[in-house]
Amino acid sequence: MREPDWTGALDEAYGHALAHLKGLPGRPVGASTTLADLRKAVGVPLPERPSEAREVIATLAEVAEPGLVASGSGRFFGFVFGGSTPTALAADWLTSTWDQNSGLYATSPAASVIEEVAGAWVLDLLGLPSSASVGFVTGTQMATFTCLAAARHELLRRAGWDVERRGLFGAPPIRVLAGAERHGTIDRALRYLGIGTDAVRAVAVDDQGRMTRDGLAAALDDAAGEPVIVCTGVGNINSGAFDPMGEICDLAHAAGAWVHVDGAFGLWAAASPALRPLVDGVDRADSWATDAHKWLNVPYDSGIAVCANPAAHRAAMGVRAAYLIHAEGDEHDQLDYVPEFSRRARGIPVYAALRALGRSGIAELVEGSCALARRFADRLGAADGVTVLNDVVLNQVLVRFDGDDARTRRIVDRVRDEGTCFLTGTTWRGRAAMRISVTNWSTDEADVDRSVAAILEIAAST
Ligand SMILES: *Cc1c(COP(=O)(O)O)cnc(C)c1O
Repeated sequence: MREPDWTGALDEAYGHALAHLKGLPGRPVGASTTLADLRKAVGVPLPERPSEAREVIATLAEVAEPGLVASGSGRFFGFVFGGSTPTALAADWLTSTWDQNSGLYATSPAASVIEEVAGAWVLDLLGLPSSASVGFVTGTQMATFTCLAAARHELLRRAGWDVERRGLFGAPPIRVLAGAERHGTIDRALRYLGIGTDAVRAVAVDDQGRMTRDGLAAALDDAAGEPVIVCTGVGNINSGAFDPMGEICDLAHAAGAWVHVDGAFGLWAAASPALRPLVDGVDRADSWATDAHKWLNVPYDSGIAVCANPAAHRAAMGVRAAYLIHAEGDEHDQLDYVPEFSRRARGIPVYAALRALGRSGIAELVEGSCALARRFADRLGAADGVTVLNDVVLNQVLVRFDGDDARTRRIVDRVRDEGTCFLTGTTWRGRAAMRISVTNWSTDEADVDRSVAAILEIAAST
């Protein structure tokens, strides 16, 4: 057998990785090719014979490059993405290198203990109960799925129904109360779980998208006697607003409901002493879904499911098989807390990111993004005809041009085409808006100012 060419493959990849990272500040943020050209470059016939690793990696970098979106750029403000810090990226490389199947303590003691510690750090940092259970999953979508599976288990257990054994046919129906502005991943998780989206009653929200106390009280009254999950959000996907968690937990728990929190990015406000009041009461919920691949700036895919009821979490996810080696003592088998079986040790980059930034570094990262969002709002809002539509309480800014839907959408599209920065449009309370989200660790004031100048210049000529 030939010596494996680790050096050739990894050296080649390292060179391309560095070139990509160092090129981020200077390149257009959007992709620079067409679908047809990409298909042509990528879509060669399946090779009949092996190729040299170095050559394959070089070609891969070459064909992908024009189709890459520079989402790691400091001027990427689309969706809620976040980039990767150097430490998180390097730890992610090691995670791939070690290639641990980290479902069980037995298959990787190191991964198990690193995830155990990373989980405890996340609870500490976000002010969640230290007794809660944690699963490192692919993203908030699967974190919400995992948490709502735990909720389904617990509510039906209380109703005398073993859902893991009997399924949902014939089970008492579960009612879901969720803000009218909820993220689509809630509905998707309900589809996966067999609860279905018809189970949702939309709770009234205020002008920032926050669930109202009266709306929730009325919805809970209406659902009296049924098993109820209340799905809340901290960090509205458009406005960044926070549901009033203290009031919600009081009302919902008095009615015996389970409270789930979608905190994909907003939950990280808890990591900042200055912003923590925004999430007051969030620690009293029953489950929380959040991302590390957004504001913590860890590479994809990295979400975190947290459950205040570890027994329910484990009842919903746990698995046993004769050929596996299950924990018999105090060890932590991750597959009892996640939907996957074989799994990447995705908690390792989270551990490294938390270790690198520390408590103060994470607070600065979150507060820094919020200050830059306010800078966007102040500078854009000062221009003629530009209106900031939301209270900029976090990292999200919604902007509208001359009160005109079509014009606002045209400007959003032209800004993306021009390439200085990347952002998207949305509809906010029936009106078109430009949506700016600041979550990248590397964004600075110069990035914001350059982007504001490009946006205003495009607006002036549109
Ligand atoms: C991003 C996001 C999600 C989905 O998270 P994924 O990590 O993409 O699965 C859910 N809710 C909110 C508020 C989000 O911002």
